[in-house]
Amino acid sequence: MKRTPATVAEIRKQFPIFDQKEGTRPLVYLDNGATTQKPSSVIDRITNFYRHEYATVHRGVYALSQKSTEYYDAARETVRQFINAASTEEVVFVRGTTEAINLVAASYGRPFFKAGDEIIVSEIEHHANFVPWQQLAKELCLKLVVTPVNDSGELILDEYKKRLNSNTKLVALTHVSNVLGSIFPVKAIIESAHAVGAKVLLDGAQAIQHLKVDVQALDCDFYVFSGHKLYGPTGIGVLYAKEALLTMMHPYQTGGDMIERVTITETTFSRGAIKFEAGTPNFVDAVGLATAIDFFNSIDPTYLANHESALLNYATDRLSSESDIRIIGTAAKKIAVISFVMDGIHPHDVGT
Ligand code: PMP
Repeated sequence: MKRTPATVAEIRKQFPIFDQKEGTRPLVYLDNGATTQKPSSVIDRITNFYRHEYATVHRGVYALSQKSTEYYDAARETVRQFINAASTEEVVFVRGTTEAINLVAASYGRPFFKAGDEIIVSEIEHHANFVPWQQLAKELCLKLVVTPVNDSGELILDEYKKRLNSNTKLVALTHVSNVLGSIFPVKAIIESAHAVGAKVLLDGAQAIQHLKVDVQALDCDFYVFSGHKLYGPTGIGVLYAKEALLTMMHPYQTGGDMIERVTITETTFSRGAIKFEAGTPNFVDAVGLATAIDFFNSIDPTYLANHESALLNYATDRLSSESDIRIIGTAAKKIAVISFVMDGIHPHDVGT
């Protein structure tokens, strides 16, 4: 897609929510780490789909459904290209990062891990990439190993390497921290994990909108992210998994749409991504996500990166100049997220 050099003002104009004011001032929105606002193209695509094109997918016998299926397939291809997966069979649509991780825990962890196996997470994981592994560890008597970060919020690679051994079955780490902004050294993490035969899951919820993600170059086994943090709709996200893993994995849920053949006593399941998409899929929001990716791809990434780092540097300098403010998370490689505490004031009150 052609990248148009756009200014911040031009990009901002594409977001209808910023047409409104808060009192007399233009609306300011700083909570993009939690979720992002939506450009008109995404809102219009979803609205038009419901108004003019809506019918369920995978019912090949009538035109509306065929078209819907084509859009759904095209959305999967858009995601495939975006993360450079080898095949659309490796792109599973889910509700979001949380569901993707739970899917891997249920469909890969539960059947294939056994008592004594080890899972490594970091001490700054989002609950979405901690609780599912903690619960699975309790259920199967696995060892949940927590690897530390230094005072700046950087993963301590040597400490991580010390925790890898032949019992390590999975390394589940964030690509970018939602609290501290730290970018983890994922290439080195993955290489060391693979050297002991462990698989790697990367939580890309905070990375996908800041870094170029190429799952083949990374050689990660699982990569997960949410559409709503990438200017797309809520309720749609992506699990990338290597095809060989998806083939051996058990279905996450069973029911319609994911079956090949059903008899009274037996069921055979579809292959590839569809095996993990039981029930009527959220195809409208998948198409909305593809539109969000098109929007994202239309902006020059260098322009975006420069603007973000200028904002980060400005905010860091200004906050650092206040003697009663301490910034938490000062990794040398970080995205534009700032956490801070203020002497004598509860963070909740500062936020208010
Ligand atoms: N991981 C990280 C790093 C996140 O920032 C978030 C959302 N704050 C999640 C996982 C969970 O994402 P979701 O709520 O969309 O499932």
